[in-house]
Amino acid sequence: MNRLLTLLALPLAGLLAFPAAAQQAADTVAPESRSAITERQAVQATRQMVVAANPLAAQAGLDVLRAGGNAADALVVIQTVLGLVEPQSSGLGGGAFLAWYDAKAGTVTTFDGRETAPAAATPELFLGPDGKPLEFFQAVIGGRSVGAPGVPRLLETVHAKYGKLPWPQLMQPAIALAESGFPVSPRLHTMIAGDIGRLDKQPVTRDYFFDALGAPQATGAVLRNPDYAASLRTIAEGGADAFYKGPIAGKIVAAVNGHPTNPGSLSLDDLANYKVKERPAVCAAYRGLSVCGMGPPSSGALTTGQILGMVEPFDLATLGPDDPESWRIIGDATRLAFADRERYIADSDFVSIPKGLLNADYLKGRAQLIRRPTALPDDQVTAGDPPWDKAELRLDGKAFDMPATSHFVIVDSEGNVLSMTTSVENAFGSRQMVGGFILNNQLTDFSFAPEKDGKAVANRVEPGKRPRSSMAPTIVLKDGKPVYALGSPGGSSIIPYVATALIALVDWKLDMQAAIALPHMLDRFGVYELEAGTKAEDFAGDLEALGFKTKIGDQNSGLHGIAISGGGLTGGADPRREGLALGD
Ligand code: GLU
Repeated sequence: MNRLLTLLALPLAGLLAFPAAAQQAADTVAPESRSAITERQAVQATRQMVVAANPLAAQAGLDVLRAGGNAADALVVIQTVLGLVEPQSSGLGGGAFLAWYDAKAGTVTTFDGRETAPAAATPELFLGPDGKPLEFFQAVIGGRSVGAPGVPRLLETVHAKYGKLPWPQLMQPAIALAESGFPVSPRLHTMIAGDIGRLDKQPVTRDYFFDALGAPQATGAVLRNPDYAASLRTIAEGGADAFYKGPIAGKIVAAVNGHPTNPGSLSLDDLANYKVKERPAVCAAYRGLSVCGMGPPSSGALTTGQILGMVEPFDLATLGPDDPESWRIIGDATRLAFADRERYIADSDFVSIPKGLLNADYLKGRAQLIRRPTALPDDQVTAGDPPWDKAELRLDGKAFDMPATSHFVIVDSEGNVLSMTTSVENAFGSRQMVGGFILNNQLTDFSFAPEKDGKAVANRVEPGKRPRSSMAPTIVLKDGKPVYALGSPGGSSIIPYVATALIALVDWKLDMQAAIALPHMLDRFGVYELEAGTKAEDFAGDLEALGFKTKIGDQNSGLHGIAISGGGLTGGADPRREGLALGD
């Protein structure tokens, strides 16, 4: 057995029993635990399944499916519970992208619930008084980075379109948990402790996330969040309007604009005017499959699709995951795809995007660049010239991506499939909290520098625009039927995480859990990042001999996925985090 796979030789699991098993898994799988990679087993089910980043959220999601709800109902429950128990990653004050397979119609569609820049925002938002881009955390903390949140309207839109159970009922699990209190998870504790110096410097987050003595809330401490329960009650009664047009909106605007050192300029109108946009799924062809997901303003589906399109001419199945040649091909395909991403992809409602980024001939041409024995020299990794209706001069942009965020997947007994990546951007977002939830810092996903030598960066800040994302909620179809649903947090590493997991599933025939646990190796910008403490480290010498620069470090994915076949559902949850797959 080869190098990467020996690590993953796992016995097949039976149906997971719960909730005891859910709690046990939560207790035993320490976050970031490397050994956990070998311990997790794929979870099998036949009718329905959820995979989410926290056991309480996964359990609440399964409960609603058992109570007769479908995936659109479980969506509301899982997100509102995650906003409580994993507040550093996502919630009412954040945004999300959602891919939905409608079993009745046999189609995939996507919903864009991305945060939106205020009407008063200017391209200079993240420049300091000296005209230079701000430091990342200077921009993040306070009100400046907060975009109009998208999650409440997204939940309402998708629930109204597809859900079955009454909306107020779906708020109850999170309300009950917020009132009775929930045990702080090991990961939440670690994230709080890791943010000392920021989170404890803002009064509301200090009061909530630190105890009376000023220590980070301990693992297992019971945390109550009555403000969150009150916000959810308001939304249960008044719908998303109660968030965007009611008293909650006033509190958000006051916190953002009233920040003492770094205020923003969000108005009540920005919130009242917020819109979720249903967009056609962007689908890329890969070895007879259709890999569908979120188009602009996310780069997720386009860049993942480009990587897959460029590796398709190579026989990765025969090479296998153990051969450095596989990783030479994947690594250079990723670098080329990221060069296009940096130059061309932004909110398509504001900038024109080449229509041919997934064009088969274009990608074949790009793949030719990788037909060589060694790594591409840096100066040959440049954006290509994809087919375009309206060629525009573009400058390469650079935006920061820092890992927080959450991905969950749901398959219900009707056959609907939901894949959603949800985020407040950086861990604990802007470090501002109102109504018991964190406000995002998603605007820092824009390019800080708007232009160079008078030429515009596609992803510059503009009023009403949505920052470019890397989130890649994915649903893969074969002959029109869903076979995989997956996605991950991880900033722009999301894209190689998802692309490599798909290669592992399709070419290397790993099961969902093994594909997710495969040690990470990725090269986005000219350095091959190898996951510390795993067999990936062993590739450093070979990759350097091929001409790559390498770096060993932690990889913070949170890949969650479900494989769907005639035989049933197979779920996988990333052992690097504390999530869980549960099904019947
Ligand atoms: N803000 C990032 C994006 O939209 C996600 C952050 C993360 O995954 O940690 O792409």
